[in-house]
Amino acid sequence: MEFQTLAEIVEYCHHEGKDMAQAMVDYEVKNKNQTREQIYEGLKRVLLVMEESVDQGLTQQVITASGMLNNWAKSVYQSPVETLGSSLKKATARAIAVGEVNACMGRIAAAPTAGSAGIMPAVLVTMLEEHKVTRERLLDALLVSSAVGLIFAKNSSFAGSEAGCMGETGSAAAMGAAAIVYLLGGTEEQILESVGFALKASMGLVCDPVAGLVEEPCTTRNAVGVANAFVSAQMALAGVRSMIPADEVIYATREVGELMSPRLKESGQGGLANTRTGREIQKNVFSIVHP
Ligand code: SF4
Repeated sequence: MEFQTLAEIVEYCHHEGKDMAQAMVDYEVKNKNQTREQIYEGLKRVLLVMEESVDQGLTQQVITASGMLNNWAKSVYQSPVETLGSSLKKATARAIAVGEVNACMGRIAAAPTAGSAGIMPAVLVTMLEEHKVTRERLLDALLVSSAVGLIFAKNSSFAGSEAGCMGETGSAAAMGAAAIVYLLGGTEEQILESVGFALKASMGLVCDPVAGLVEEPCTTRNAVGVANAFVSAQMALAGVRSMIPADEVIYATREVGELMSPRLKESGQGGLANTRTGREIQKNVFSIVHP
């Protein structure tokens, strides 16, 4: 049993009368030699790590040696200003929280990567709080996200050095969007539409971490990735159609990644890393490491 495209997974769902989470359970049972119980046990552990990392970033001191991250998650969470209500503010804070914990070498769940680890936890914790979904449903939502991740990994790349930040925060936003659509009762087709929207919004996003540290712009890009996930899910659930099928959008991310200059793919030589301020920060960071 092999899935090469998201369309194949949807076809399997329709043929077997299953939803995407159940299809992924079948996939894992057949290909990873795991029982259903083992799969869900693993998912519970992942969810717990995600929740703990959000909590840690919102309650503990998280200041990086470079000074680029300094308890920004708490600043956002406690801010009296709400551009679009408290839900978006809290979701933003949660994504930053995980980014800060990651930058401080705390424990996070890479979903799909460490650099993009803030998006899925922010999406899931926000869905838990705002929509009162059950924890069991969150585990199934993780499975739906994993379907997107599986196909993205096969047909594009999660590596910033290959696909830029589109491959990291872009794919995480697509996984988050799929989870939201699933949790709100969307169809398999709507899940795919949301994936297409999220990836199109991230198309060509470069990987340019300042001083080579997964801090700036990574952490705030995670926050924007959460907004991308919710907006993409919103459009899909309302029936907006993405003209380019999700699988084709994924193929396009691979092509765009290949066409991208190596300077813009995790080299530290382009984009924000190559700005005057970015270079100064890099110099300061090196003077801390090699005084
Ligand atoms: S900028 Fe690069 S290192 Fe940072 S999150 Fe994006 S892909 Fe990862």
